[in-house]
Amino acid sequence: MINQILQSPRVARVYESIVNAVFPRSCVGCGLSRKSGGDYLCGLCRDDLFVIDDPLCNTCGIPADIDYDYPAEGFECGWCRKGGFRFNRARSLGLYDSVLKELIHFYKYRNQPGAINEIEPFLRDYFGTCREEYQGYSVASVPLHVKKLKERGFDQSFVLAHKIAEILDLPLLVRPLKRIRETFPQARKNRAERFQNVRGAFEVVDTEAVFDRNILLVDDVFTTGSTVNEVARVLKQAKAGRVQVFTLARA
Ligand SMILES: [Zn+2]
Ligand SMILES: [Zn+2]
Repeated sequence: MINQILQSPRVARVYESIVNAVFPRSCVGCGLSRKSGGDYLCGLCRDDLFVIDDPLCNTCGIPADIDYDYPAEGFECGWCRKGGFRFNRARSLGLYDSVLKELIHFYKYRNQPGAINEIEPFLRDYFGTCREEYQGYSVASVPLHVKKLKERGFDQSFVLAHKIAEILDLPLLVRPLKRIRETFPQARKNRAERFQNVRGAFEVVDTEAVFDRNILLVDDVFTTGSTVNEVARVLKQAKAGRVQVFTLARA
C-alpha cells in the first residue's frame, strides 16, 4: 500500500519538490547534477576543495608567496611583522576563491544552514591534526547584529562555532559579545576603510565568561581581518587571554 502511494507520480513530484527546496538539485560548485558526493557538492568538487597548507604566515595564516617571501620556519608576513593584528593567531580551512565560496554563499545567504554538514568532514580532518593547540580554549563566534539575525533567520558564525566546539570538545560561549552598531557592507572598501568601519561595533556583554580565558574566535570569511581584529581588541580589553581566530575561508 505504502509502496503504491510512493510510486504514484503525483506523490513522487511532491516529494521531489520538497527535496529540491531543501537541497539544491545540482552541485553548488560546478552546477552539474550531482550523481555522487554529498547534498551540495558533487564528488569531483568535493575533491577540489582547496585546503590551505604550509608555507603560511605563522600569525595571520595568509599563504606565503614562496618566490617573494622565502618563508622559513616561524615566517611572518609584512603586515604581521609590523604588529598589525590584535589577535594572537588566525587560521582558515581553505581559500575563499574555490568551491568554498559557493558553499558559504548557500550557507549564509540562501538560508541553508545544512550546507555546513558538507564542510564538516573537512573541519574534522583539519582539527584532527591540531587538537592540542586549542586545549583549554573556549569557543565564541563573531556576533551578528540583531537586525541581520532577524533578516537571515540564523547566525551563521554561531552555527559554525557550535560545530567546531563539538568537534574539539570545547566549551561554547553563548553570545558573550554583541554587535552594538550596524556596519556598512565591507565589500567595496579598502583595507584602511574596513578597519575604520568596524571600529566600536562590538561589545563584550558577558565579561565573566571571557575574563582570563583563551578564546577560539570563529567566523565564516577572513578578508582583511578587520572584523575579527576588532572583536579580538574588545576581548583583550575585557581581559581575555589568548585569542585565536578560525574562519572557514581566507579571501
Ligand atoms: Zn560539482
Ligand atoms: Zn600575517
